[in-house]
Amino acid sequence: MDNDILKLKSIIEESNNIVFFGGAGVSTESGIPDFRSANGLYSQDLGREVSPEEMVSHTFYVNHPEQFFEFYRDKLIYEDAEPNACHMALAELEAQGKVKAIVTQNIDGLHQKAGSKVVWELHGSTLRNYCEDCGAFYDLRKIMGTEGVPLCDKCGGRVKPDVVLYEEGLDTDVINGAVDAISNADTLIVGGTTLIVYPAAGLIHYFRGKNIVLINMSATSADGKANLVIRRPIGEVFSECLFG
Ligand code: NAD
Ligand code: ZN
Repeated sequence: MDNDILKLKSIIEESNNIVFFGGAGVSTESGIPDFRSANGLYSQDLGREVSPEEMVSHTFYVNHPEQFFEFYRDKLIYEDAEPNACHMALAELEAQGKVKAIVTQNIDGLHQKAGSKVVWELHGSTLRNYCEDCGAFYDLRKIMGTEGVPLCDKCGGRVKPDVVLYEEGLDTDVINGAVDAISNADTLIVGGTTLIVYPAAGLIHYFRGKNIVLINMSATSADGKANLVIRRPIGEVFSECLFG
């Protein structure tokens, strides 16, 4: 076991209120591309004139719903993805009473699939969808089992994924839950995120505890504040730390 893993192990051992703050890099080892890595969605030539960032904006959703849903089904949904060692380890640490909450920018539901209970989904979830007119709930089958713009069975209204698009605000209860968890934590583990999507990334500034651990393939603005920075795939790191 290398030194960084030993250090991470000892930080986890001495902590009783760990919060994990994560992003798309947490799920790349589950086969879901992130946005900003070399293999990420933003680097792919999608053969479209509109950038992926514009595609997942509220304006684009409202003005071009057909194209939005084509892109959304094709590039943002990974129905067969399974939790990796990072998701599993965090669920295990929650069961042990060490991890108190996960704050995630991901929309893939993999933390819950791994068994985590307290998960603040800052950007919502692709697994929940609601009719814009009557509020009826639909699961992912409503999106993946239809073509074009998905419509409500009850009233014919448009069904929108419960995902925060660019230009849309975050849910107040979710922000409050995340801020509360982060400000009470003794250790904050940040992983798989460029920390450039705001306001989500700004939430880590509520941390007042002892240890910040940063596990990310590339450098971030918070590296300088961290007690431990590990630049390795996060699933591998947790796998060695907990199950190695
Ligand atoms: P990002 O794409 O901006 O950055 C991902 C970061 O993770 C990069 O710094 C990269 O170096 C790092 N990374 C990639 N694989 C890694 C691994 N195996 N181990 C450690 N680090 C790894 O992601 P972001 O900061 O979360 O911002 C992107 C936005 O995109 C978020 O708002 C999120 O909602 C959305 N998104 C979600 C998913 C998902 O739900 N799985 C996927 C793509 C994008
Ligand atoms: Zn309806």
